[in-house]
Amino acid sequence: MGRVIKVLKLDTKPGRRRADQGRALVAGGAGFLGSHLCQRLLADGYEVIALDNFHTGKRYNLSAIARDASFTCIRHDIVEELPTDLAVDEIYNLACPASPPHYQADPIHTFKTSVLGSINLLELARRHNAKIFQASTSEVYGDPLVHPQPEGYFGNVNTHGPRSCYDEGKRSAETLFFDYSRTYGIDVRVARIFNTYGPRMRPDDGRVVSNFIVQALRGDDITVYGSGTQTRSFCFVDDLIEGFVRLMNAGVAPQHPVNLGNPVEFTVMKMAELVIDYTNSRSCIVHRPLPVDDPRQRKPDISFARQHLGWEPKVALSEGLAHTTAYFDAVLGGRRFIAPRTVQASTVREATA
Ligand code: NAD
Ligand code: UDP
Repeated sequence: MGRVIKVLKLDTKPGRRRADQGRALVAGGAGFLGSHLCQRLLADGYEVIALDNFHTGKRYNLSAIARDASFTCIRHDIVEELPTDLAVDEIYNLACPASPPHYQADPIHTFKTSVLGSINLLELARRHNAKIFQASTSEVYGDPLVHPQPEGYFGNVNTHGPRSCYDEGKRSAETLFFDYSRTYGIDVRVARIFNTYGPRMRPDDGRVVSNFIVQALRGDDITVYGSGTQTRSFCFVDDLIEGFVRLMNAGVAPQHPVNLGNPVEFTVMKMAELVIDYTNSRSCIVHRPLPVDDPRQRKPDISFARQHLGWEPKVALSEGLAHTTAYFDAVLGGRRFIAPRTVQASTVREATA
């Protein structure tokens, strides 16, 4: 049974805001995306319960909303049986480490989180007739042979590599969501999220945007894995959260997963150069080995989201990097190394280590 970190009973708190939208449960609510979603749902008038095992999530991600009378946080691992008295109207399942080093640290638990955790949350949805949202991923396309990736593409995924615990776990979760929908008539919404960045990523998260910004601010080498010719498409967190809310509130539930991401594609090397330029860092670019099964290209086809949700990203990479850099600057305590560079941003130094 989960441990309640803070409970403020809605019906006993004087002067509380009316939670007129109902009660939403956010599994993974202390994480990067989850904490932004909790904040958005509170602003929209929901009572919000965050459920998190704090594996990669942090309490300080919730500091902006911790005192909100309509907010509760419960420490709980979704792999374990959920509290049965958790009556909710809407469930968002964001619980799962998302960064390759974190999800590969305990691959079996990552897989259980996507499969057993999804079953536990789907059962909760079934018990309370709640609408349920799944944070799936562009990783279900694996190393895609179709570019850009539309929702109809079935993907090219290794079943037994180091990324498989995440990719195959998320694919299994999609199967479970649509089987629960067909079998029990549950209202499910499944978003395939492409690389998203922004404030509240952990400095040690290990993903490319946070790594590059933290390295640039510290004046450390920027670690490009492989040649840097692999591509990703980067979405700012505020845009993505808007997409979540639109998908959850769409009048008709799409009977398939929906891509949510920014279709503007960059090479990893270009991202390194942009971050160095943006931060005016003295950092050099070094190369490290490309991780096994690292997808070579990725760019969402968001035609469905554009047409049916009226959604598309609005925040340009330059603006998103400004917000994210300011966040990491504050988190690192202003220990930013600003010095005139003696090398060009495009200078590439081979790693010696
Ligand atoms: P994150 O690691 O910051 O957040 C995940 C949260 O889930 C953390 O708070 C963590 O403690 C919690 N968690 C993990 N396992 C749990 C468990 N078994 N029980 C309860 N809580 C658990 O990652 P994020 O970037 O915020 O990603 C959130 C969700 O979105 C994940 O499901 C991820 O797969 C998905 N996603 C994210 C991206 C992205 O670019 N950020 C891309 C694709 C998919
Ligand atoms: N990457 C990199 N340097 C880093 C971290 C990541 O070159 O310090 C590369 C990684 O190999 C991948 C891309 O950046 O090609 C995106 O990696 P990330 O872990 O952010 O997300 P994912 O691989 O899950 O898309």
